[in-house]
Amino acid sequence: MVLTTFTNGRFFVDSPQGGIFLSSLSVRDGKIVDGPLQGAHEVDLGGRLALPAFVDAHCHLLPLGESLDKVDLTGCTSLAHILQRLEAHNQTHPDAVRILAKNWIQGMTEPREIDRASLDTLDKPVYIESYDLHSSLLNSAALAELAIDADGRTPDPPGGKIVRDADGRATGWMQELAHLNVVAGFLQKQTTTEEKRRAIENAFAALLGAGYTAVGDLLMEEDAFAILTSLEQEQGRLPVRVRAYWHVEPKPDLAESLKAIDRAKELQERRKGSEYLQVVGIKLVSDGVIDSCTASLLAPYRDGSNAEPIWPLDRLTAAVQRADELGLQCAIHAIGDLSVHNAVEALASLGRERIVARRHRIEHLELSTAADVQKLGSLGITTSVQPVHADPALLDNWYNQLGGPHADRCCNRAFAYRDFLEAGAPIAIGTDAPTAPFPPLPNLHIATTRRSARDPQLDTRTTPQFALPLVAAVAAATQGAARACHVEHLQGSFAAGCSADFNVVDIDLFSPENEGKQMLLKAKVAQTFVQGKPV
Ligand SMILES: [Zn+2]
Repeated sequence: MVLTTFTNGRFFVDSPQGGIFLSSLSVRDGKIVDGPLQGAHEVDLGGRLALPAFVDAHCHLLPLGESLDKVDLTGCTSLAHILQRLEAHNQTHPDAVRILAKNWIQGMTEPREIDRASLDTLDKPVYIESYDLHSSLLNSAALAELAIDADGRTPDPPGGKIVRDADGRATGWMQELAHLNVVAGFLQKQTTTEEKRRAIENAFAALLGAGYTAVGDLLMEEDAFAILTSLEQEQGRLPVRVRAYWHVEPKPDLAESLKAIDRAKELQERRKGSEYLQVVGIKLVSDGVIDSCTASLLAPYRDGSNAEPIWPLDRLTAAVQRADELGLQCAIHAIGDLSVHNAVEALASLGRERIVARRHRIEHLELSTAADVQKLGSLGITTSVQPVHADPALLDNWYNQLGGPHADRCCNRAFAYRDFLEAGAPIAIGTDAPTAPFPPLPNLHIATTRRSARDPQLDTRTTPQFALPLVAAVAAATQGAARACHVEHLQGSFAAGCSADFNVVDIDLFSPENEGKQMLLKAKVAQTFVQGKPV
């Protein structure tokens, strides 16, 4: 038996009275126990703050691991700048078959300044994905290897768009399912199982290094799941607990879609009892994103367009009911206020008791009406949010598509986290990595200050009235995220029975003299403990 007492710490506990702090923590064989332990080995934390290990309530493991190797375009301000980074990478990776880049964002270049021809100076296929992973730009060599006709004769795939210029020729831009299924699907097929396995291991190392010991993987599919299963079998554990949400795609025939729900059920049964890898639910992507006008809105975009929901309400309700009957949790991606409304209505058909028992959740909720928030709060629907997506440095185009930063819905209903809290909805914080950076403390900085973590000099704040109090934000990134992913009996708090997984932080975020000083941008996770041992 290994007995450890951590003394002289400030162990954060969320309580109805606010944050309270325990000075010591007793650990027996890696698990937290109540009361003092006789004969325990003592570890002095030097008066520092300790937070339960973080849970990323919404991330994507395999894409995260793969993105760690891509050329990062963050900070580029022109086409020349982008080409410079791609060229530099090409020179250091001469044997790579293609160049993969990430984090392109609207406004980095003038809209018409960059198309496939701009990237044709590079001697191999080039793929640039947008930061939100909903579109990509391909050069001519990349289009050719995908067998997409540059003259524009290839039809758009269902749910996707091959963007064409005024003459009908392909520009190289691929949107929504043209990106996700055609481009990302093709690249997936070029990747060997060994490469994917390495990517997942890299993702685990990066997440653990940042202070996470559990994640929700919000778009799990067969290949990544098979790799995770064999990793767990070989190692007897995984470095980070994974709770998977099986991707249920919209198919013209609803019965075909529902088959994926049955598959999720089969895997849920098979993995039951595993601490490290379980299928807990399904993921339904009900709309796109605001940046490319593919999120479904109650009132149209500035240009008069709107997007049809990917899952119309009747089908969404049928899928949600089927999953719920089978004991699966539903996670519904809903960004626009129409999609959020539909998600609330579909879940409402189950009633509060089942919603709370299964912890059905809505992902993103970037725009929501006050009435829908009241309803989701009273139903106990979990709101799964990614503050990194509300970083004011990223929102120029977002606001623009919705009618400008002064449009009513932008000023009054964007990223309404505080409203969710006050309506009584459980909140779970995540990052949606790799669509956004995953370090937990900058994410909490945005949640609590609504200021930018990307550009700390920026004065703009995103709907500051919806900032979360620090205690609520830390709780949502630990206990709240753990609950949303069904791991709160294993981690997320300092409750007896939980694994002693926690982070020691180098600055006391809660001390009164640090209030209002943007300490979350300065603070670092100094040390992570897993089962009471430093990692
Ligand atoms: Zn996601």
